[in-house]
Amino acid sequence: MSEQKSVSLGERWRREATRGVDDKRLAAALELLPSIRKPMVRIRPGSMRAEMEGAMGSIHEVSLQVVTLPQREWTTVVRVLRRSKSIIEALEQGKVPRAFDRLLARIVGEPLFPDARRVTFGCSCDLQEKPCRHVLALNELFARRLDEKPWELLVLRGIDLHGLLAKVRQQSTDHDLPPLAFGAPEEPVLYPEAEGADLDAALSQTQVRWLLGDVSPRAVEAVKKRLEALTKPKS
Ligand SMILES: [Zn+2]
Repeated sequence: MSEQKSVSLGERWRREATRGVDDKRLAAALELLPSIRKPMVRIRPGSMRAEMEGAMGSIHEVSLQVVTLPQREWTTVVRVLRRSKSIIEALEQGKVPRAFDRLLARIVGEPLFPDARRVTFGCSCDLQEKPCRHVLALNELFARRLDEKPWELLVLRGIDLHGLLAKVRQQSTDHDLPPLAFGAPEEPVLYPEAEGADLDAALSQTQVRWLLGDVSPRAVEAVKKRLEALTKPKS
C-alpha cells in the first residue's frame, strides 16, 4: 500500500537508525540524551561527532560516518535546478524537499538521504550491543535536529548549500536552452514529492539532455518535417 502522508526527514532518519532495535535498547538510548555534552553535536561533511557521559563520569566519543555525495555531475544538477523553481524556493528556506532527493538520485546516482549501507558508526564504549545506546542516542538527536534544520543533512552529505544556490542564481551560458513550454516556471515534475516513488532509475546521458531541452537540430528538423507532412491538407 502506498503511503500518501509525507514523512519528515527526522522521522525518516529515526526509522532507518532504529530498524531492528528493540524498545528496551531504545529506551536506554533516550535516557542518555540529556547527558550529551556541549557543544552538542559537530556536523561536518561526511561525519558527525558528540561526547556523551557514561557511568561514573566516563566520557564516550560517539561518531557516525556517511559517504559524501559525488560532485562529478554537479554542473548538471545546477542546470536542472535553474529550471526547478519550487525546489529552489524550498532550499532557500532551508527546507529539503523530497523532490530534491529524487533529483540528486537521478542525476548523481545517489539520493541525498543516505542508504543505511552508506552509514557507519563508532563509539569508545565497550558495550556488546551494536549499535550501542550512545550511537542510538546520537541518531535520535540528529533526527530531532533534522526536523528543525533539515539543511544539516546537506552539510553531512558534503553539499555547500550557499555555494549551490549562488551558482543556480548566476545567469550563465544557459541561453542556448529553449524556454519552457507554456511559460511554465519549472520542468514538468519528474521528481514527485509523494512517498514510494522509485529512486533507483538514474537518467541516462540522453535523458538528461532531453530534460534540459538539449536536442540536436537534426532531430528538431526531422520532427518539424513530419509535423508539416501531417498537417498538410490532402488534395
Ligand atoms: Zn557506546
